Amino acid sequence: MLLNEKSVIITGASRGIGRAAALECARQGANVVIGYSGSESSRPGVEALIAEIEALGRRACAIGAPAGDPETGELLVDAAVKHFGGVDIFVNNAGICPFHAFLDMPKELYQETVDTNLNGAFFAVQAAANQMKIQGRGGSIIAVSSISALVGGGMQTHYTPTKAGLVSLMQSCAVALGGYGIRCNAVLPGTIETDINKDDLADEEKRQYMVSRTPLGRLGRPDDLAGPIVFLASDMAQYITGASLLVDGGMFVNLQ
Ligand code: NAP
Repeated sequence: MLLNEKSVIITGASRGIGRAAALECARQGANVVIGYSGSESSRPGVEALIAEIEALGRRACAIGAPAGDPETGELLVDAAVKHFGGVDIFVNNAGICPFHAFLDMPKELYQETVDTNLNGAFFAVQAAANQMKIQGRGGSIIAVSSISALVGGGMQTHYTPTKAGLVSLMQSCAVALGGYGIRCNAVLPGTIETDINKDDLADEEKRQYMVSRTPLGRLGRPDDLAGPIVFLASDMAQYITGASLLVDGGMFVNLQ
């Protein structure tokens, strides 16, 4: 039980990496606020996740609100305070990656991507940190960045800067919040099979190429991120702040 009785908020927890992280946090003893977009189509998945967490003997509630809205972080924090008595761990995971070429990138798509992935994260991290400061018992903030923070992508020119921005946000927040005992770190997933890249990886040739780039010989699964997130959230990582942890099966270091 690495997170016994901890109160955890995870954005984008209805599916994919966030869902796997929410379940592992619950297995480790935490109660979880599940953030998601609020879309009706995600609601059954959210209800199923709440039921799975409750079956583990933990508690969960859900807040559906756009990640890009500057007020969403406060809604999530309010729910954690109301239902679980505070916030110990905040995982900023919600994100979108709508592939598009650079030269004709629609302004709306650029803006939506930056708002959802980075601007909303800034205000949500700020809301969580202010609550942690009031509580006076420290805390752990984790941003789900990407290997794309370190490398380019021709169809991701709107996405990769948001992921580099999250790494930078965690580094600066580690400095700003260290005095309150609040640790801030980033995880950088490689290629993890989820809805976000389902269409891209439906191309079998592309999929096999990505597998061949990965020294561990397979693409990632959402639960490959759950352990690293729980580790950084827990006291086992009590002296780690401002760090970036690649979770990519070795893809980044595989130049040739
Ligand atoms: P996913 O399966 O598509 O899940 C995305 C999650 O984000 C869902 O819970 C979704 O909620 C939520 N979300 C999307 N737009 C939102 C919005 N506007 N407001 C609130 N919530 C929103 O994707 P994933 O692969 O697990 O991605 C999670 C994070 O990992 C993202 O930040 C992504 O950039 C990062 N990442 C993923 C990979 C990968 O290969 N999969 C690699 C590197 C980094 P709804 O269900 O309500 O839509």
